[in-house]
Amino acid sequence: MDCIVGWQKTSLIDFPGTVSTVLFLFGCNLRCPYCHNPGIVLEQYETLLYNDIREHIIKRKGIVEGAVISGGEPSIHSGLQSLCDDLRSLGLRVKIDTNGLEPEVINSCAADYLALDIKTAIEKYPRLNVRQSYNDYRERLGMSIDIVKRMGKNAEIRITAVPGIIDESDIDSLLIDLRGVGKIFIQPFNPSRQMIDPAYSSVKPYEQRELEVWRRRFLDAGIDCEVRNP
Ligand code: SF4
Repeated sequence: MDCIVGWQKTSLIDFPGTVSTVLFLFGCNLRCPYCHNPGIVLEQYETLLYNDIREHIIKRKGIVEGAVISGGEPSIHSGLQSLCDDLRSLGLRVKIDTNGLEPEVINSCAADYLALDIKTAIEKYPRLNVRQSYNDYRERLGMSIDIVKRMGKNAEIRITAVPGIIDESDIDSLLIDLRGVGKIFIQPFNPSRQMIDPAYSSVKPYEQRELEVWRRRFLDAGIDCEVRNP
């Protein structure tokens, strides 16, 4: 596995109910202008040795219970399934963070927990610079949403509330597309100095009370939803 460019040895917050180690894989098939990880997405970091990570996991057996595979977008790597299998052979549960554009890869990995980022109404995905080779993104995202539905409480949808990318009118179409998912988390946008499009560094996030309105709309449609703290 020569695509790991970041590693957080221990996390208490990235895998619900699970002490985890978090791996960041380089590259991405989107270019969200507000992306916080341009160094990872644009492949500017050195890769880490997977064997070092493996040894750490073996030493911490019984303490670290899970692995989160994040990015970038982990599903663009052909070795993702064997990475998942190897982590499971070490006794870990596996969570994958994904943008959902590679549903077949995600399905084949059979993650124990899945976090799917849905960034806006599906028809607005061109704002995220979707590549030509993903012009069937509607079908792909639909398949990934179906995986989340099948996984019930072992999966979540994450929506980052970025002004200019998603607004309250987009919730109308998401209410239809996301009906039947186990859980939605709305995350406030958190501008930082390092973003793919530096103009987003000065975008003012939505007020918490606006996100509460979105949450209420999901709840009224029978979809469990929480707003994460900024
Ligand atoms: S926000 Fe996620 S999906 Fe978008 S470019 Fe960054 S890593 Fe890729």
